[in-house]
Amino acid sequence: METDGTSELEDLTYFVDLDWFQESDRSFVVIAQHCLCPDCKERLASEPGTMTPAALVTNIRHCCSKLPGFISPKLPLLEKVFRLFLSEGNESLSLTKLTAQLSFNSDSPVSLSPQTLQHLLDNNQYYGFRRRL
Ligand SMILES: [Zn+2]
Repeated sequence: METDGTSELEDLTYFVDLDWFQESDRSFVVIAQHCLCPDCKERLASEPGTMTPAALVTNIRHCCSKLPGFISPKLPLLEKVFRLFLSEGNESLSLTKLTAQLSFNSDSPVSLSPQTLQHLLDNNQYYGFRRRL
């Protein structure tokens, strides 16, 4: 019997696991640099290799995520989730908060359920989403 399974689900929190990228031999910087504003992109290009993943997160949080259209409704769903984490400095976010933010940044009248989002996050092998245990 899972009577209160739903409320537990909504309390699950996620974050972008920067260690996962390293362990999987993937580059967080390569994925995250697409989220940079034009100025920061230029800066990163002129000084390649100077930005650590953590510095990049901080940079996006304080600069690029403040620009209009950072989380555009046109973006793919998981790209929006990734950008939400970046705009919050990769703090853990609950499924409740994520689904609320996503419906705010969506053109679709159909809102996403926490269950569906949980599935998407757990099965994604690209952005490094991880449950905070
Ligand atoms: Zn920027």
